[in-house]
Amino acid sequence: MEATDCRRAFPSFDEPALKATFDITLVADKELTALSNMDVKEEKILESGKKATSFNTSPVMSTYLVAFIVGELSYVESNYFRVPVRVYATPGMEDRCKFSAELGARTLEFFEKKFDVPYPLPKMDMVGIHDFSAGAMENWGLVTYRVVDLLFDEENDNANTKQRVAEVVQHELAHQWFGNLVTMDWWDGLWLNEGFATWMSWYSCNSFYPDWKVWETYVGDNLQSCLALDSLRSSHPVEVPVKRADEVNQIFDAISYSKGSCIVKMVSIILGEDTFIRGISRYLKRHQYGNTETGDLWKALSEESGLDVAGIMDTWTSKVGFPVLTVSEDGNTIHVRQNRFLATGDVKPEEDTTIYPLSLALRNKSGKVENINLDKREISIDLSKYDASSAFYKLNADQAGLYRTLYPPERVVKLSQAGADNLLSVEDRVGLIADTASLSVSGYQKTSALLDLISLWKNEKEPNVWMEMLKRFGAIRKTWIFQPESTTDALKQLLGELVLPKVNELGWNFHAEESLLQQQLKGTLFSSAVSSENDKIVKEALSLFEKYASGDAKAVHPNIRAAVFGAAAKYGDEATWQRLVDVYTSPKSSVEGLAAITALGGAKNVDLQKKTIKLTLDGTVRSQDVFYVLNGLSTNVAGIQILWDWLREEWDAITKKFPANMGLLLNIIYICTGSLATPQHLKEFDEFFKSKDTKGFDKAVSISRDRLVSRIAWLERDVKDVEEWLAKHQSSTKL
Ligand SMILES: [Zn+2]
Repeated sequence: MEATDCRRAFPSFDEPALKATFDITLVADKELTALSNMDVKEEKILESGKKATSFNTSPVMSTYLVAFIVGELSYVESNYFRVPVRVYATPGMEDRCKFSAELGARTLEFFEKKFDVPYPLPKMDMVGIHDFSAGAMENWGLVTYRVVDLLFDEENDNANTKQRVAEVVQHELAHQWFGNLVTMDWWDGLWLNEGFATWMSWYSCNSFYPDWKVWETYVGDNLQSCLALDSLRSSHPVEVPVKRADEVNQIFDAISYSKGSCIVKMVSIILGEDTFIRGISRYLKRHQYGNTETGDLWKALSEESGLDVAGIMDTWTSKVGFPVLTVSEDGNTIHVRQNRFLATGDVKPEEDTTIYPLSLALRNKSGKVENINLDKREISIDLSKYDASSAFYKLNADQAGLYRTLYPPERVVKLSQAGADNLLSVEDRVGLIADTASLSVSGYQKTSALLDLISLWKNEKEPNVWMEMLKRFGAIRKTWIFQPESTTDALKQLLGELVLPKVNELGWNFHAEESLLQQQLKGTLFSSAVSSENDKIVKEALSLFEKYASGDAKAVHPNIRAAVFGAAAKYGDEATWQRLVDVYTSPKSSVEGLAAITALGGAKNVDLQKKTIKLTLDGTVRSQDVFYVLNGLSTNVAGIQILWDWLREEWDAITKKFPANMGLLLNIIYICTGSLATPQHLKEFDEFFKSKDTKGFDKAVSISRDRLVSRIAWLERDVKDVEEWLAKHQSSTKL
């Protein structure tokens, strides 16, 4: 019922600091399962024939964490931990409950040991819900999830699903202490609740699955989504004043989750993980069953570490944004200057008043990292003092800092070569691609610099580096989608050149002993090859779908299922379209169904695309799944127009079905406007939202507008640059 829905269930003083105990009795049909936060005290059959289930008194807790569920459910139980951990789902899905039941039990044991504070409830139930607007909700002792974020099927699900389920389960279980046992005083502390749970889920994932290399993935994933959102003019400090109920839902955004967790990671690096966890333990013990402000955590961490944590973190929590560091070189001396970074590249003096405290983490030629503090606007550094020189150095080693680095163009070339020569860590390489891409979007560098870098690194071996390259190249293709066909074709061809040698080397068969990352890479490469419209790969995808459609369920490996369904929908007829809709309505696994409805929007046949958008409001697609359909449509020119028309024409029906307080509306706005890229689009955008009462989603509108403005500016600056690069590239490959 987070944030403010408990008051809709029963009269209450519905604020996080007003904690109470709860005695709950549920009256329901007797064959149904009744669950709540606590274990069952007694069950009685009433005169009416209904069953009354009473639960034991809860510990003192916040209203937003109260939960009750009645339904036809069955469960799998793990007794690995000292209290039973059950995973509930609708009957018939028991096999898929085993993974998270075991994982949940091991995670509770792990956290209990790490925090040195016992899990305080007598049981843990985790329930997969069929239509759920968020990803999951950490209700104390009764955690609720989207089915796809809880259930895992070794046979029919893929590597991405396993990783996602592990992350979500561990995130929710971290909340059982951080959030549930100790709770923020008010919603302005939400970022810490979410930031910590997010960080903690990686910390435990890293301990359980070291081969997943979660801290490498963090650099391309979470860090980038934080920096992307925080580079918009419409961003906000993580600690944001919240007054009205409708403002609360809007702060469940990437700033709270991603920047929150990046800040937590920063503290954990400064203190060291062990000291950090001991400080958390001190904080939990001191405040258990109570409420806190951010300062209480900094205090406990300062006591544990002897450092002034509040002093270090204050700027990061109270100020918006992060800096770009401009580096200039003079022999072995470098000069570093920090300014606020905006994706639109047009920061005004009054927006550039914050000095962010940074550690420059200089990597030298022996691979070591030297920490140099930057606590003012600019400094000069004599590289020779740090065993570095103009021959080789890199700032932001392992990309641990929250900033972008703008080097002189020659340095980018040298670093690109250093990356190809294996002088940079995986995190460094992911970071260099991300920085180069982001600096070209904002006009600090040319997009051709990114194309040079990606072309040079096409022999890269590391999955995380590849995935970052493909993501950034994908962003160019997406933004350039309205450009002349000669350009879009050349980009498509370039994608093929990049990925095909690798696809042919690695193949698209999967083996049990392959690492999760390797599986993800092979899946991503295959999907890129399909997207490049390479004949051989497209034929292969279509023939795999043929086998699948004629009853061979195992013909398509889950890791390439999205790509195979995508090809089938793109080149398929109405029968194929219907077949994919049927997969969604009766899937073997939830992920399979979602891959099917995502694929639909890619159809080359515009009539089928128009049929696709209708599924969103006619009840075929569950509310929680609508954005998969929309995402599918956003991949091509016709689909983008259909989305934009749909949003405007069906606005009343959309806002009725997806009220702003459910959060889904925000995603709908992001997706339906997220591929617009022309000045005409901007005009239409302003025209449309001008007349709307945007209460409850005004943030989504201003973020979407900022992104659109940034794409238009990027194109205006670099259309020629990219065209010239492609022409030069084509003539050189023809030689
Ligand atoms: Zn959370």
